[in-house]
Amino acid sequence: MFEVLFLEAKLYCYFAVHLPAIRFISAKQSMPLLSGLQLKQLAFLLTKIIDMNKIEHLGIAVKNLEESNLLFEKLLGTPSYKQEFVESEGVKTSFFKNGPNKIELLEATNPDSPIAKFIEKKGEGIHHIAFEVDDIESEIKRLQQEGFIVLNDKPKKGADNKLVAFLHPKSTNGVLIELCQEIK
Ligand code: ZN
Repeated sequence: MFEVLFLEAKLYCYFAVHLPAIRFISAKQSMPLLSGLQLKQLAFLLTKIIDMNKIEHLGIAVKNLEESNLLFEKLLGTPSYKQEFVESEGVKTSFFKNGPNKIELLEATNPDSPIAKFIEKKGEGIHHIAFEVDDIESEIKRLQQEGFIVLNDKPKKGADNKLVAFLHPKSTNGVLIELCQEIK
């Protein structure tokens, strides 16, 4: 029951923005707008169109990964479960689990790395929020159509076995947003 209500609520929110597209789909399939099962099917399709599933991790820029690893181990009571060097980004990364959530620590490996520039400008701190998506290419297209500035419109290989793309903070209230899709 709650599931149906949730889907309906989601659909109605979506209507505010996407009514013309929904009218088009309904006309094409010659179905009356918003009837029972079709409503559920349509809501399911729409949940596929917006693909920001959950916050996958928070990225934190640090000056010294070794020291921060010890600090976060003390803070969370668990050691880093994965450390990885991402050459294309000029970063060393370290991942921690906290319940269902993840923290990614990032240290620059050269002065031209985006992390080095971030720390120079703002100091250590939260660098990005990463959202999990199922289909990164279609999500990039959708966000571009919505007016967001995508920094790389071809997804690239990131840490933790993911394809990633970033949205410019200028278009997202000053916060760097990462989209990430698990590589299967
Ligand atoms: Zn990340």
